[in-house]
Amino acid sequence: MSAGRYAPSPSGDLHVGNLRTALLAWLWARHTDRDFLIRVEDLDRVRPGAEQRQLADLRALGLDWDGEPVRQSERLDLYDATIARLRDQGLVYECFCTRREILEAPTAPHHPPGAYPGTCRDLTDVERAERRALRPAALRVRSDVATFTVHDEIHGTYEGAVDDFVIRRGDGVPAYNLAVVVDDSAQGVDQVVRGDDLLASAPRQAWLATLLGATPPAYVHVPLALNAEGQRLAKRDGAVTRVELQDTGVDVLGLIAGSLGLDGRTPEELLASFEPAELPREPWVYVPTA
Ligand code: GLU
Repeated sequence: MSAGRYAPSPSGDLHVGNLRTALLAWLWARHTDRDFLIRVEDLDRVRPGAEQRQLADLRALGLDWDGEPVRQSERLDLYDATIARLRDQGLVYECFCTRREILEAPTAPHHPPGAYPGTCRDLTDVERAERRALRPAALRVRSDVATFTVHDEIHGTYEGAVDDFVIRRGDGVPAYNLAVVVDDSAQGVDQVVRGDDLLASAPRQAWLATLLGATPPAYVHVPLALNAEGQRLAKRDGAVTRVELQDTGVDVLGLIAGSLGLDGRTPEELLASFEPAELPREPWVYVPTA
């Protein structure tokens, strides 16, 4: 199977920039004859009712998807099994570092800024036992590379850092980077269209996919929507959700289509004129009127 997907986190309502990314993911999948899946990434902060409102927004925009949306919170066994597999291969270690300790640790010359410096990589059994008494451990994957290169349809060849990143948080929740790779591979997702704020995560995810014996997906990191100040569009910028925009008389699909240089009243009609190579490569500056 060959599929694209949209994977919203139900931490709040989608704004017009998120909806634009969702539409692009749908267009890209359909344009390339792929299935289109929805995955609710609800391992983290969940706002009650947000999932239902997000799905209603996507439907109201005219998007359709194949099968029922899946929820990450219902797939914990899958993540645990993958962590166990990596553990059996000796590729997992416990990390007791706080965020602050990582920031303050001296970085080795071959570690890019922000990369985990490897503090807990080679603890002795005694040291581990001591630290376990202090705080719960996160789990990190042992990476044998410093960087990994992906191909992105918009950004071209992109090389980024791969450190020993967290695959299970200290609170026991599977980390985003692990869940996304496990799910994309298990769901047959071979095309990932998402906001370009996640481009820097792609090398870690593609490297992990390869480690797990999967083929990394084709990546398309699309430009984000920005506000008048050039910052990432946010709800505080004004009327930006589908409901808010409709209440002020805005045709939301028309607004998004216009920002993409596409013409049509339904996603199907937009698909007819969709040409990936002609899409704007710059962020979309959107200044809400209300
Ligand atoms: N759930 C993530 C978000 O809403 C997207 C993850 C992904 O597309 O890989 O930002």
